[in-house]
Amino acid sequence: MFSYRRVVELSHVIHPGKERRPFEVELVGADRIDPNLPRAEGQWYVMGNLKHTAHVGTHIETPFHCLREGDDLSKIGADRLVGEAAVLDLRDVAAPGHAIALEEFQAAAEKAGGIRAGDIVLCHTGHSRHYGADAYARRPGFSGEALTWMVEQGVKLMGVDTGGIETREVPENAYHTILFSHGICLIENLANLAALTQPRVMVFALPLAVEGLEAIPLRVVALE
Ligand SMILES: [Zn+2]
Repeated sequence: MFSYRRVVELSHVIHPGKERRPFEVELVGADRIDPNLPRAEGQWYVMGNLKHTAHVGTHIETPFHCLREGDDLSKIGADRLVGEAAVLDLRDVAAPGHAIALEEFQAAAEKAGGIRAGDIVLCHTGHSRHYGADAYARRPGFSGEALTWMVEQGVKLMGVDTGGIETREVPENAYHTILFSHGICLIENLANLAALTQPRVMVFALPLAVEGLEAIPLRVVALE
């Protein structure tokens, strides 16, 4: 029987009305179906209606994000979303605007005990979400060589604490497609990676399975 000591939350909280452009979240209809009905003190009957971009907060992107024939959320089986993860500590090399090089990526993988076929890979850069036109300059990205090597190891899912993996020099989403063309989904804006104490953890990343949708916020948890 699989045993664990800690459950670590790896998703940001979403704050309707407070998320920054262009990722606004609106909570509509959360109100009180007929507030005049008699109810016990402190009770109501709330049914929320959330309106938001699929890319707010900690979210998963499927191949359908960039590939017309790629799998959407409804086609991503749970086996691609749950499993052992290698946690790569890239904080030392993750300078703003820097594309993490193959050797830097491999060194972090080695420190984590290597990347095995079927692994989930969580990349800890120490940077969080950056917004605005100059976001690329304020967070690190990855080199194409590093991502290609990672894909070649047979990983099944990648997660990162930043809002993207490209650097400014790379055409829009070119590196997303390195993952997507191999059926690998990408989780962006992971939170709390510093709370992990082990380089290998069990990860559960379970988005809603929505037909025709390319991305969605999700809870990601790690078990240690
Ligand atoms: Zn993305």
